[in-house]
Amino acid sequence: MSENKHFETEAVRINVSSSDQREHSAPIYLSSSFVFDSAEQARQMFADEIPGNIYSRYANPNTSDLIQKICAAEGTENGVCTASGMAAMFGSMAALLQQGDHILAARSLFGSTHQLLTRVFPKWGISHTYGDISDIANWEKLLRPNTKMIFIETPSNPGLEIIDLEYIANFANAHNLILVVDNCFATPYLQQPAKWGAHIVTHSATKFIDGQGRVLGGLILGKKELIDEVQFFMRHTGPSLSPFNAWVLAKSMETLAVRMDRHCENALKIAQYFEGNAEVEMVKYPFLASHPQFQLAKKQMRHGGGIITLTLKGGLARAKRFIDQLQMITVTANLGDSRSIITHPASTTHSKLSEEERERVGILNGLVRLSVGLEHVDDIILDIERALEGSKT
Ligand SMILES: *Cc1c(COP(=O)(O)O)cnc(C)c1O
Repeated sequence: MSENKHFETEAVRINVSSSDQREHSAPIYLSSSFVFDSAEQARQMFADEIPGNIYSRYANPNTSDLIQKICAAEGTENGVCTASGMAAMFGSMAALLQQGDHILAARSLFGSTHQLLTRVFPKWGISHTYGDISDIANWEKLLRPNTKMIFIETPSNPGLEIIDLEYIANFANAHNLILVVDNCFATPYLQQPAKWGAHIVTHSATKFIDGQGRVLGGLILGKKELIDEVQFFMRHTGPSLSPFNAWVLAKSMETLAVRMDRHCENALKIAQYFEGNAEVEMVKYPFLASHPQFQLAKKQMRHGGGIITLTLKGGLARAKRFIDQLQMITVTANLGDSRSIITHPASTTHSKLSEEERERVGILNGLVRLSVGLEHVDDIILDIERALEGSKT
């Protein structure tokens, strides 16, 4: 592939698999295993002497397709597809760490990632320390002799806090640590952590990469030497992505740029609408000048993303009434869908955190998360306007 093609062109045109049927669109390879020409060829493939598909837990033309497309988009060398985003978060840590290691993680993390660090890894002697994003200049104090990895999300879910990727990559390199960035909220179209120096990039492909609320999937991407280790771990522990889901996600990559442009355009308009509405107490969106890290967001993101958080006058009770009054926007736990979605993180996605833990990462009880979809922006605003009006007491 050429260096100078645009993001959109590579996302559409990169296509590794093609059969002798001369199809134009990638077929689905629903085959558990692949045939060898001879006993000797089988031996060579198992010995890694020649490339080729062996068994779909290892690789499949559809997962290879998805990895090529996403690596071109992220600027990473290689990758592994996983059955869900959480398999990717787990695998990125479990494959590269061992008993006795320590992870320095940003406090603002997806709820299940928090569970991994606090409930799962301690069982295997892997410990963690949380650092506040607002205090990142002092993270050196949180390092231990056994710290091996830094794990962050930016923008964070749901607080929309931004971490300076250039700064944190330099910090990781200075201390010889592996920097893992969960790039789920931004997608490679808006932000490419590897270009700032991240060693591993993870995704829940379930969100904007699928973008239409259909399949679960995850990705671990990065430098070849690290991905080799991850690949070994994933192949032998088995959380493989199904070829069907890989096919869906690879096709979705072809429309990622146009979808994200519209998600972001709609989200900015809606964030501006909220900012001018007297019923709204606080609104947060990375590309609003009122976002505390607006300049940083502009530096490392192409647009502000599809997620807005807000609190309403009247706190939790008002937030619940507002959610119940929405007629079009759906109440569900996903995000990054073509359909606009409203979520109350404190009682759902982040309910396993204590109230104190939530407050430390800005998940106030009245906070509402809006994943802005691809409907006409005027219709989304009308639904919001009516629900704001209808939720007054
Ligand atoms: C949803 C999400 C995950 C987990 O992904 P699944 O596909 O649901 O397993 C991880 N990180 C972030 C930031 C997410 O939003």
